[in-house]
Amino acid sequence: MTDHPLQAWRDTLEDLGVMGLVREPMAAPEPIPATQVSRPAPHPGPRPVSRPTPPPAAASPRPGAPSATSSAPYVRPTDPIGCPPPEAVATAASLADLERAIQGCLACPLGPGRLKFVFGEGDPKARLMFVGEGPGRDEDLQGRPFVGKAGELLDKMIGAIGLKREDAYIANVVKCRPPDNRTPAPDEARACLGYLHRQIELIRPAVIVTLGATPLRELVGVSEGITRVRGQWKRVRVGDREIPVMPTFHPAYVLRQYTQDVRRAVWEDLKAAKEWVDKAVEDQGLKTED
Ligand code: SF4
Repeated sequence: MTDHPLQAWRDTLEDLGVMGLVREPMAAPEPIPATQVSRPAPHPGPRPVSRPTPPPAAASPRPGAPSATSSAPYVRPTDPIGCPPPEAVATAASLADLERAIQGCLACPLGPGRLKFVFGEGDPKARLMFVGEGPGRDEDLQGRPFVGKAGELLDKMIGAIGLKREDAYIANVVKCRPPDNRTPAPDEARACLGYLHRQIELIRPAVIVTLGATPLRELVGVSEGITRVRGQWKRVRVGDREIPVMPTFHPAYVLRQYTQDVRRAVWEDLKAAKEWVDKAVEDQGLKTED
């Protein structure tokens, strides 16, 4: 007969076959003399919440795209497709020849990350040329410059001075999309600038309108803030010509700052550019050549 409640509980567990999961009762500890009792350490506060370790960065969907965190210097290919020789660019007799010569370019780190090469488009003999910064997401998908919201606004801006998009030529400083639409790095812009120069030589525009700070800096060499210099005529020498340049805001900036002042400023800049084009045409191109 069981005469202790603990023993009764133990017998029950044995009957259930789970006794092995229960610890034997421990002997009561010897009392500690008061002089040896140590004060409990102050509570360390809430335990730090362990956050899940972020997964490793997803592999690039595009083969060969450089890692955003990679610090290894980019190695340019040496073949004439991946790195078109300057003479192939200089001797391209038409825009189509030039595009054929450079469309496989991987001369800077932007090349391996692109979906589509964005050469530029428009009238190959346009008197008015627009130069932006570089392709964004929509442009990278479609292989065309200034499509999407900013492109729609540019079309409206061109329409406001009585022209159509097809009357002008539209290109960018770089032909491949910078990741996350960041500003092209100076070495990327430099690697691509020869292509833009050859485009300008072949088109021979009367006026170039630069859209935003990057083309003004990389093409014209003016690093002042676009807010300060927009609307002020500049000049750029390309080949044997000096071409008037009208700096204005990028349409993406206009979309972000859609105020009457900003829209009026852009309209005045484009109106001045159009007036110069009309005058140059009237003077049979004499004003566009030095
Ligand atoms: S951005 Fe220009 S230089 Fe760089 S890979 Fe593209 S085409 Fe070549």
